[in-house]
Amino acid sequence: MRATAELMVVDEETRRRLIATVARRVIDHADELTALDQAIGDGDHGINMRRGSEAVLADLDGLAAKPLPEALKAIGMALVMKVGGASGPLYGTLFMTLGKALPPEPSLGDLIAAFDQAIAAVRARGKSDVGQKTMLDVLKPARDALAGGGDVRRAAAEAADATIPMKAIRGRASFLGDRSIGHMDPGARSSALIIGAIAEVVGEAS
Ligand code: ADP
Ligand code: MG
Repeated sequence: MRATAELMVVDEETRRRLIATVARRVIDHADELTALDQAIGDGDHGINMRRGSEAVLADLDGLAAKPLPEALKAIGMALVMKVGGASGPLYGTLFMTLGKALPPEPSLGDLIAAFDQAIAAVRARGKSDVGQKTMLDVLKPARDALAGGGDVRRAAAEAADATIPMKAIRGRASFLGDRSIGHMDPGARSSALIIGAIAEVVGEAS
């Protein structure tokens, strides 16, 4: 990736590396995601996310060939169709909104604005908000780290850890009430994995 003072040029090779790194990271951690979901959900989050990631990897060449906005929209649609559960439509909404909001060569300001729109779309779709022990509790701190010039990967990892003492208010884990306290939210963990993988590739390329 070539980052001029203003714009990030995400070329096809970088798009391929981004997509492959994210998908493989999720697949490598699928058992961990499932174990987290076994504790406070129905134990399918790793299976769901692996199925979606494998579908994305199966079309790696086709996706990487598309300009960034179209690639993101296509990834979002694949996730809606393949992941299932509550997280599929939410991750699908996240990526489709990023695709709609981002120009092909985004500036940092474009990235932050697109992230804001994507988070707003997930909140609307999930009827959820930050503080309810969901993926939003990683997405928002990661967005804030990006905007504040902080370490996005670390912020996402710490934010996932910070869901452990939280009580779930949305999603299946909320059925457990206080018994959801003491476990990391599976969707928060998958979001931290995805953001960490993106930050790694962007960091290497810049
Ligand atoms: P399901 O809960 O249908 O089994 P998954 O196990 O794949 O779906 O995904 C669970 C994750 O989805 C949760 O850990 C949480 O992060 C996220 N999630 C669930 N409901 C919501 C919601 N309403 N808003 C935001 N995130 C949610
Ligand atoms: Mg589940």
